Amino acid sequence: MGLFMQIAVPSETHGLEKRVALIPDSVKKLTKAGFDIQVEKGLGDHAGFQDAQYEEAGAKVVEDRAALMAAGDIVLRVRKPTLEDIDGLKKGCIHISYLDPYNEHELVDAMAAKGVSAISMEMIPRTTRAQKMDALSSQANLAGYVMVMLAAKQLDRILPMMMTPAGTLSPSRVFVIGAGVAGLQAIATAKRLGAKVEAFDTRPVVAEQVQSVGAKFVHIDLGETGQTEGGYAKELTAEQLEMQRLGMKDIISQSDIVITTAQLFGRPAPRIITRDMVEAMKPGGIIVDMAVDSGGNVEGSVPDQVTDINGVSIIGNSNLPSEVPRDASQMYSSNLFNLISEYWQEEDKHFDLNLEDDIIQGCLITHDGAVVNEAIKNIRSQAGG
Ligand code: NAD
Repeated sequence: MGLFMQIAVPSETHGLEKRVALIPDSVKKLTKAGFDIQVEKGLGDHAGFQDAQYEEAGAKVVEDRAALMAAGDIVLRVRKPTLEDIDGLKKGCIHISYLDPYNEHELVDAMAAKGVSAISMEMIPRTTRAQKMDALSSQANLAGYVMVMLAAKQLDRILPMMMTPAGTLSPSRVFVIGAGVAGLQAIATAKRLGAKVEAFDTRPVVAEQVQSVGAKFVHIDLGETGQTEGGYAKELTAEQLEMQRLGMKDIISQSDIVITTAQLFGRPAPRIITRDMVEAMKPGGIIVDMAVDSGGNVEGSVPDQVTDINGVSIIGNSNLPSEVPRDASQMYSSNLFNLISEYWQEEDKHFDLNLEDDIIQGCLITHDGAVVNEAIKNIRSQAGG
């Protein structure tokens, strides 16, 4: 590699993606640290960042996308690349983006074949040291906020209680299912707007966190549930899921807004709300299904559509953070900056892709022509028998 390492940031090509991988503020910091940075013309147009700001921060704005991608020693983006994109990368480069490696076998194989070191942002371990690089968390926080905003806008009522000479309006009732990063932020946001908030999660450890942001934790006895070593929920049995539905049915029917955020890492989301539960809600009720893209928590939710079932609206926005693209980009960009800084050796301008490091072991999927990630290798060998 030459003296200066090139960071290349191509524009996002997915129609619904407004976020960008790098904002001018991070360009400035990385330039100072010794990188040469190229961004594609118009990169930040939808996220509130102009080409002139990138130039001012020290980046070169280039029009030729293919040349840009081919020049990058480190390529940064939000969304996973296409096969064609991968083909145009420099052999041996580091590619950092979301990658969905549990499902995107073809992309992963193409990365390996091209000799690319692919870092998957979903796979950054949920450890204390890695928190500053954790894009799942940074984006989930914003998603939690956005879900409440979308629901409040669609709802035909207000959220807070209002006492006026004309009468008293009772507060809206919000029920949040799944109280991880996004769920807790949704709870806090709905609380701040004055709603009466209840929440449920299968991990009992969450009850205290729910109460600390001011909501009531709904106790449903499902027997043994628990969480994995990494802090993720374990999959429920079919009987447990049915018990959960029964336990939630009344609360859902009395809620004005139901927000579902239940996910199972690397697997399809649990189907928590069935059609009869939707139909039991009052007309005008709103459901926001954050898991719409990974199978859906709600029967009838459709990606990027508002579905009407008996007057109940199900919002199935598949890219919630992109509704607030400026802040979402700022956070994602900081996550990338922190990741690069962690392994950048400024003295000899060298990115130390340390294969012994636990964060690298967690998030590096391909390297040196092979799939190197243990978790991904495991699911593949299981699938292959
Ligand atoms: P997630 O997006 O995988 O899932 C969201 C929530 O859905 C989780 O709380 C999960 O328990 C819940 N859930 C799953 N099945 C459910 C069901 N049937 N009904 C109701 N709820 C269900 O999780 P997440 O938000 O990414 O985080 C999971 C945990 O990891 C959290 O406790 C979080 O605090 C922790 N975390 C730790 C770190 C760190 O230490 N650096 C970073 C991020 C998250």
